[in-house]
Amino acid sequence: MSKKLIVANWKMLPTTLAEAEGVLDLINDYLELLNEKKEFSLVFCPSFVFIEEVGKILKTSHLEHEAELGAQDIAVEDETALTGEVSGAMLQKLGVRYVIIGHSERRWKLGESDQVVNQKLKSAIRNDMVPIVCMGERERDENFSKFLEKQITNTFEGLTSDEISRCIIAYEPVWAISTNPGAHSDTPQSALESISVIKEVFSKIYHLSPKTYLYGGSVNSKNVANFLKEEEINGVLVGGASVNKEEFVKILSLVSKL
Ligand code: PEP
Repeated sequence: MSKKLIVANWKMLPTTLAEAEGVLDLINDYLELLNEKKEFSLVFCPSFVFIEEVGKILKTSHLEHEAELGAQDIAVEDETALTGEVSGAMLQKLGVRYVIIGHSERRWKLGESDQVVNQKLKSAIRNDMVPIVCMGERERDENFSKFLEKQITNTFEGLTSDEISRCIIAYEPVWAISTNPGAHSDTPQSALESISVIKEVFSKIYHLSPKTYLYGGSVNSKNVANFLKEEEINGVLVGGASVNKEEFVKILSLVSKL
């Protein structure tokens, strides 16, 4: 089985740098224990407040070889007046390699449209970062494939085949994300069905499909192995469980045993 990609989306946690250091310390200790047998690569996406410090920590010790720095968002433009935003150029200077684009919390709670997501995706590509593009339906009903097709068409509008192939897709059904009211858990079967729909849509429109597919939606130590034992699921995007250090190490240890 090829190495799985584990992306930690810390959202607005932890609230202090000391806690963030605590999470990374424990993971570093675990990586030391694992020695040569690492079946995963890691990406940490802290809040902008800690991104520089976390980037420095990721360049040290065992984390250096296994973990990369990611951002949770990026500004639509590089050089303009945009209060509160962080540009791709700024992120690049801090060593950010990956950027989460179109997370459902931004789409649905902050009203980020497919068009804005498309501009952010172009910004990440322009700045030589690997976009982790989130997509997923709000409801699992008979229209879910149509919904995904429209989301893909709008989100990737104007990208070249080469640019599309550089993207990582994170399939995150909105109804399974733990912060959403009424969230309920997904099954590997329905995740695989959606990933296959997404691949078909890419092939139909662009005659190619991105190579890496992550699953996200309340991933934790109880369900991670079920999703990741599927060959077609190349990794996971972990939200809440990634800032709970014991839980996150448990997830890594389960991935090591797949
Ligand atoms: C996420 O942030 O991408 C996510 C899936 O959140 P959670 O794991 O907390 O549901």
